Amino acid sequence: TAAKSLASCIFCKIIKGEIPSYKLVETGLTFSFLDIGPLSKGHALVIPKYHAAKLHELPDEYLSDVLPIAKKIAVAQGIENYNILQNNGRIAHQMVDHVHFHVIPKPSDSDKEG
Ligand code: 5GP
Ligand code: ZN
Repeated sequence: TAAKSLASCIFCKIIKGEIPSYKLVETGLTFSFLDIGPLSKGHALVIPKYHAAKLHELPDEYLSDVLPIAKKIAVAQGIENYNILQNNGRIAHQMVDHVHFHVIPKPSDSDKEG
């Protein structure tokens, strides 16, 4: 494939299966998996199969599956309330330097455990 990877990148390693993850959906251009530090139950990440740190560095073609996959995740999870979030740069709270879109369910009070 044309997918570009960076040897030291944890998300590139997740795409290649070198680091385990709870995979949700995979396409030719995109990989999605559960966040290891979820902000809510079902917090997922959708990432392009191309190593770019920030959105403006990513070729457009890798974006074509991202929102359809985010939709699939929302439908599969049966959630009606959720946020899509994408951070670029440390000041903007980006910690992993491989473009990723968060799909963060927003549970209602009745959904919350405890
Ligand atoms: P950022 O702050 O860069 O937008 O979000 C990075 C996200 O990646 C965080 O929510 C963090 O929990 C998640 N994350 C970091 N390392 C790993 C990992 O090795 N596996 C998984 N599944 N998620 C990770
Ligand atoms: Zn990467």
